Amino acid sequence: MTLFGTNGIRGVLNESLDPEMGYKFGMAVGTYYDTEDIALGYDNRTTSDIFRTAIESGVLNSGKNVIDLGMVPTPAVQIYCKLHKIPGIMVTASHNPSEFNGFKIIAIDGSNPGKEDEAKVEDIMTKESFVKTTWDFVGRIRNDDAIYPYINEILKNVAPNRIRGKRFRVLVDCANSTTLVTTPLLLRKLGTRYVSINGNPDGSFPGRDPEPSEDNIRDMRSLARIGGFDLSVAHDGDGDRATFLDEKGDLIDGDKFVALVADHVLEQQKGDLVFPVASSFLIDRIAEKHGVRVVRTAVGAPMVSDVLTKIHGLMGGEENGKVILPQYLNAGDGGLSVAMALDLMSSTNMEISKLIKQLPDYRLKRIKIAGRTDFESIKGKIKDFYKKMEADEIDGLRLVDRDSFILIRKSGTEPVIRIYLSSMDPDWINAREREVMKFLSG
Ligand code: MG
Repeated sequence: MTLFGTNGIRGVLNESLDPEMGYKFGMAVGTYYDTEDIALGYDNRTTSDIFRTAIESGVLNSGKNVIDLGMVPTPAVQIYCKLHKIPGIMVTASHNPSEFNGFKIIAIDGSNPGKEDEAKVEDIMTKESFVKTTWDFVGRIRNDDAIYPYINEILKNVAPNRIRGKRFRVLVDCANSTTLVTTPLLLRKLGTRYVSINGNPDGSFPGRDPEPSEDNIRDMRSLARIGGFDLSVAHDGDGDRATFLDEKGDLIDGDKFVALVADHVLEQQKGDLVFPVASSFLIDRIAEKHGVRVVRTAVGAPMVSDVLTKIHGLMGGEENGKVILPQYLNAGDGGLSVAMALDLMSSTNMEISKLIKQLPDYRLKRIKIAGRTDFESIKGKIKDFYKKMEADEIDGLRLVDRDSFILIRKSGTEPVIRIYLSSMDPDWINAREREVMKFLSG
């Protein structure tokens, strides 16, 4: 496949992504799936109107109807697809900068489509083997609401009355994007008093980049330090992720957040966990406590979702804080994460920083080395040097020393090598970092 990357098709208008591709994509999705209706949602990027109208034309010309859900987060479209058992399309470039946009397919169960489905759609696009309709069978557009059904589904996973009783104070940063139509509403339904920043929709993303990284959410961090909030949350552009700050305004490590949620979920029901090799061994300690398994996968939410389906797992996640609860939706959802965070604070009656502090202190250090294409030779040298450590190649090379590890992998999309170092012992991390960096410089 050449068009579809790890998360659909992405590009810049008239540079790497033409409106004509949107039209062909719509035709191909309409040709491939045999349902009458196809749901469509989009973010508020400056190019979303041009791409979604092109896609709509394509779907209509394949004889299928478009259910236009408007400007909504990706998980709202996914829940709509799951509830109505229809496929969907989302026009978004998630956390990429404002010049990018993209199209992704949503499977009939609301999850990410399998690689086979994407390959078949791509094949229809490249061979132009579309089904074309006639004037009397052409599809129609109708609008529907995806927001309230989405919020209601989230609320089924938490105890809304208990949360309302706490009257939490929350700071929210929706990055001038899609979650503006859902997270403030969710916070109202949960009885919180909230303050919103970057709270007007603007596709040029004037407030911050839509990736909720530590650097990008500086405004929220300064406000969180002085505002007296129980919790602060920053979403990515299309709402499948959330980054949190505690009541002091300190960043909550995503790796620890998912472990906390897993512990909370496992207290209510039992089932196996699915996590990528980049997550620390903290998740293994949580699994041991509840007598369940952790299955490790390659890095990326689609891999986690895939294995969750195969083993009927209870919960999955990623070290960036993404929580996947398949009984709700087999994909990440920032809105669900917000509700989960408030649920565990209300059920324990504890500040979020104290809940995090109770966990075994596994540190996870992530290092990004740009401009490297010699991954294979580095991998060989490192494997040789650490031959006493247990090695696996689920994704790149992971070297395990009891409950510490070094993971070295190359990015699937850019010439970048990523290194993850995890241990409860900060000295171990520092020592391994010095050794690994020597291999990269020499
Ligand atoms: Mg996203």
